[in-house]
Amino acid sequence: MSYVDEVIAEVIAKNPDEPEFHQAVREVLESIRPVIEANEAQFRRDALLERLVNPERQIKFRVPWLDDNGDVHVNTGYRVQFNSAIGPYKGGLRLHPSVNIGIIKFLGFEQIFKNSLTGLPIGGGKGGSDFDPKGKSDREVMRFCQSFMTELCKYIGADTDVPAGDIGTGGREIGYMFGQYKKIRGLFEGVLTGKGLTYGGSLARTEATGYGLLYITDELLRCHGESMQGKTVVVSGAGNVAIYAIEKAQQLGAKVVTCSDSTGWIYDPDGIDVAALKEIKEVKRARLTEYKNYRPNAEYHEGRGVWQIKADIALPCATQNELHLDDAKQLVANGCKAVCEGANMPTTEDATKYLQDNGVWFIPGKASNAGGVATSALEMSQNSERLSWSFEEVDAQLKKIMENVYHNIDNAAKKYGFEGNYVVGANIAGFEKVLDAMNAQGIV
Ligand code: NDP
Repeated sequence: MSYVDEVIAEVIAKNPDEPEFHQAVREVLESIRPVIEANEAQFRRDALLERLVNPERQIKFRVPWLDDNGDVHVNTGYRVQFNSAIGPYKGGLRLHPSVNIGIIKFLGFEQIFKNSLTGLPIGGGKGGSDFDPKGKSDREVMRFCQSFMTELCKYIGADTDVPAGDIGTGGREIGYMFGQYKKIRGLFEGVLTGKGLTYGGSLARTEATGYGLLYITDELLRCHGESMQGKTVVVSGAGNVAIYAIEKAQQLGAKVVTCSDSTGWIYDPDGIDVAALKEIKEVKRARLTEYKNYRPNAEYHEGRGVWQIKADIALPCATQNELHLDDAKQLVANGCKAVCEGANMPTTEDATKYLQDNGVWFIPGKASNAGGVATSALEMSQNSERLSWSFEEVDAQLKKIMENVYHNIDNAAKKYGFEGNYVVGANIAGFEKVLDAMNAQGIV
């Protein structure tokens, strides 16, 4: 059996009931197979892949908190510090009932290569809890965040591990966590990113993942002689990534006709009203059913369905495995040219293959949503030098980083004979830098 196959089999055997983690490992290791097989004996001797797929550390802890009635609830908290070869661990905190160790490991593993692709000195990590902020009062969310940080603060720091937001963790949650970290550790330092602007946050961090997604999509189109101007776009999700992806797509002259949340989806043939969406999701924290109050001509549907709408470009921005094989077939039948992932691993393996086999340009999330973590790293730089850069400066750096990511993954794919396969390109380009750093640092 080849070394790659052996390690994939071992990951599945040793980490049962973690299908998302298996999926992420399989996708990366299959992509880097040409690099591994070119030097298989040495890599096997160094147990390189075993060191890559086993987190440096995984922390699991109890999070007790009081609701507004004085009743106690207990959730589980996680932080997986996956790989620090190229810098301090960096990656978000997900608060969602579906969170378990397998989800956090898949996200942490992906984060290693994503962070490497940004060109910035950040290692891979991820964390979160099965706590659901939905339907909780502000005070309940605060008490949860404080309890979560009371334990997490023992393991993180501005030079060791710098968490950020993710699903369910926005500015409010980061603020409560930062306050608790400061109180316990007595340190006002850049230990979290996605902070508010009055206490060390970076301009353009809120917009960064969605804007970055559009910068790389735009570069992809430009390199194929096209542009966003006049394109019809379907987006899933209605959270941080989706909102700012829609905003930037429309600024670039495209029309975005869909968005969705965990209960339903909107089709607005006149183009999504971003101001209305922000009010519903960022201010009221309400359901998308409200959208019709702002735009009576729009349609609201229960369940999932955005991929059935005819479009030139599809941007999945909600969650993992939300774009299935049937959706891919529908997109291809409708003439879709590009799928660029805003979420982490939103496209299933068979759907990805179908899109690629049918000539759709497909950019995986670890490249196309890297703008969020890249801007988090820019927030860390600003915190270190105790300065704040202007929106324009951060945005310009973000655009440059995303264009570089595109060319890095494109070049890596070409170098290994997989031209146009951006999945292979992203995994190889991300891996090569980590490999070099791991080799230089010895067996640790
Ligand atoms: P948010 O919590 O702001 O928004 C998530 C959106 O997806 C919401 O509309 C939510 O619906 C919907 N959603 C979440 N879970 C499900 C589900 N199981 N089924 C259907 N819909 C769901 O998260 P973000 O926008 O920050 O993150 C979205 C994706 O992007 C995630 O995969 C995240 O890991 C990834 N990402 C985020 C980055 C960031 O900077 N925020 C950076 C890089 C990647 P509802 O409103 O009903 O909750």
